[in-house]
Amino acid sequence: MKLVELFFPNYCLLCNRPIRYNELLCPECLGDLSSGPIALYEDQRAFKSYFYGRYESKLRDLILLYKNSHHWRLSKILASFLVKTMKTYSSSAELLTWVPSSLSSLEERGFDTMALIAKITSDMTGIPLKRILESRATSNKRGMTVEQRRSLVKNSFSAIGKVYEDVALIDDVFTTGSTISECVRILKNAGVGSVTVYCIARA
Ligand SMILES: [Zn+2]
Repeated sequence: MKLVELFFPNYCLLCNRPIRYNELLCPECLGDLSSGPIALYEDQRAFKSYFYGRYESKLRDLILLYKNSHHWRLSKILASFLVKTMKTYSSSAELLTWVPSSLSSLEERGFDTMALIAKITSDMTGIPLKRILESRATSNKRGMTVEQRRSLVKNSFSAIGKVYEDVALIDDVFTTGSTISECVRILKNAGVGSVTVYCIARA
């Protein structure tokens, strides 16, 4: 045991086991999280999506912990899941972009949770990163009906920048796919040839 561990005991963020001073998760939890990507993929005609895992147990806990706390160092672990998924399905994307958090959640959390993951994913894969989609949503999506959310999504994103052939779009959780579908539609309208979606988890 290092002296620092004696004075500053450190615990796994998911299961509370004692861990080394410079770690976030214990080897058991990391092991449980290492089985992705899952074989599941979806073909939505306009785009294909691949997922690292199901939105359940430790993967769900980890995503929620990252989004709702300020454990920004977890972004590296979550980005590594996307990198593994992209490598498994041999992404040939020339550009990487992400589904932006709404402005309200940005204010709540103090940082764009997906932007940070996107930056690290770009560094790890060497695929250039660009913010193409911009969120114009100002109200909180929580508590809205499906129809309200859908209409908000329709008006929430605007494509900016030049035209690309092959773009990888990343997001944390794929739920109904309505936000992602809308992002893909906007990217294609802006002239992007092909969009492949990579998500950390499938709800
Ligand atoms: Zn643990």
